[in-house]
Amino acid sequence: MTARHLLLLAGDGIGAETMAQVERVLTVLRNAGLDTTWDSAPLGGASLDLHGTPLTAETLARAKQADAVLLGAVGGPKWENLDFALRPEQALLTLRKELGLFANLRPAICFPALAESSSLRSELISGLDLLIVRELTGGVYFGEPRGIETLASGERRGVNTQTYTTSEILRVAEIAFTLAAERSGKLVSVEKSNVMESGVLWREEVTALHQKNWQTLSLSHMYADNCAMQLVRAPKQFDVILTDNLFGDLLSDVAAMLTGSLGMLPSASLGDRRPDGLRPALYEPVHGSAPDIAGKSLANPCASLLSLAMALRWSFARPDLAEALESAVEETLAQGFRTPDLMTTTRESNNHLRQASTTEMTDKILDNLG
Ligand code: NAD
Repeated sequence: MTARHLLLLAGDGIGAETMAQVERVLTVLRNAGLDTTWDSAPLGGASLDLHGTPLTAETLARAKQADAVLLGAVGGPKWENLDFALRPEQALLTLRKELGLFANLRPAICFPALAESSSLRSELISGLDLLIVRELTGGVYFGEPRGIETLASGERRGVNTQTYTTSEILRVAEIAFTLAAERSGKLVSVEKSNVMESGVLWREEVTALHQKNWQTLSLSHMYADNCAMQLVRAPKQFDVILTDNLFGDLLSDVAAMLTGSLGMLPSASLGDRRPDGLRPALYEPVHGSAPDIAGKSLANPCASLLSLAMALRWSFARPDLAEALESAVEETLAQGFRTPDLMTTTRESNNHLRQASTTEMTDKILDNLG
């Protein structure tokens, strides 16, 4: 097998700081035998300043050629008054669309050492490890007709349309079943088939796919409103949740916040298999460019490092290294090291914690990786 190639797009704000930590870890992993090459390109505001556009045609072409893309974050106050077409965030939307990334994977993992940071009681959350698979390119955010019209009566009407086709449902469901098979084998499919025809179709197609290819797995169905309640009542009942674009947007934020901190949350977005069997993939932390802390070495690198772990698992066929990196992060937290965002608000509970900068946190993670 030839070496796989990773394109690093650090972007803006803390993206540059966290991506520097990713490169440190990649170097250590390469020295330990990871057969991967990487290079980088500017994106977002950084690209706008250099090239007059948040995403150049050359960077887009390189992203398409790469086996995976790892992104830092884009955006910041310097660029926020520009036209939408020039805003740094546009680069991200174009990348997702051009790479055909229809499945968004958002794990919600609560490391035991951080259970106290959750808004839920720690026994409900400690050890949580669930994965939300959200359809990303269809549904009500893209359906036609859409718009705001003025009726003959003079009243205005806003319209959005929820649509899903069989193929749109099946391709994301196939990914969710594949992931469930590698975990506990338990998939919950979420929609509102009690009130929406698109939900009825969603349930029928997922059920048919289960019957056809995945009968050995456990499939159950849940209405989206009940799922939201269950996520805050007893989140550990879930392993893999499959849902559409709109419900996934809401439910993944609920699940993410159960785990306590934005600085800990990775994500992946996957597309259709290429002829070589790999899926185009974009890995990125859930957080943004955090202009309030940029340049101060206060950023938590864990979300970016855990995004790298997802890339190792899904694009580089190295689940062993992914697990090693995840364990190194967990061990570092268990030893009490915390970037400032993870410090608790009470002085007593901070007594056993040791505050670390972005680079110091990575130093400890590398110690635990070695
Ligand atoms: P944000 O995620 O950048 O920051 C929200 C809060 O969380 C801030 O207080 C920040 O300091 C903190 N935070 C975020 N990541 C952290 C980390 N790794 N370590 C420690 N603290 C962290 O969201 P925002 O402030 O709403 O947006 C700032 C900019 O980022 C905007 O321009 C926005 O458009 C952009 N943004 C980009 C992405 C992306 O690139 N995927 C996502 C969200 C927001």
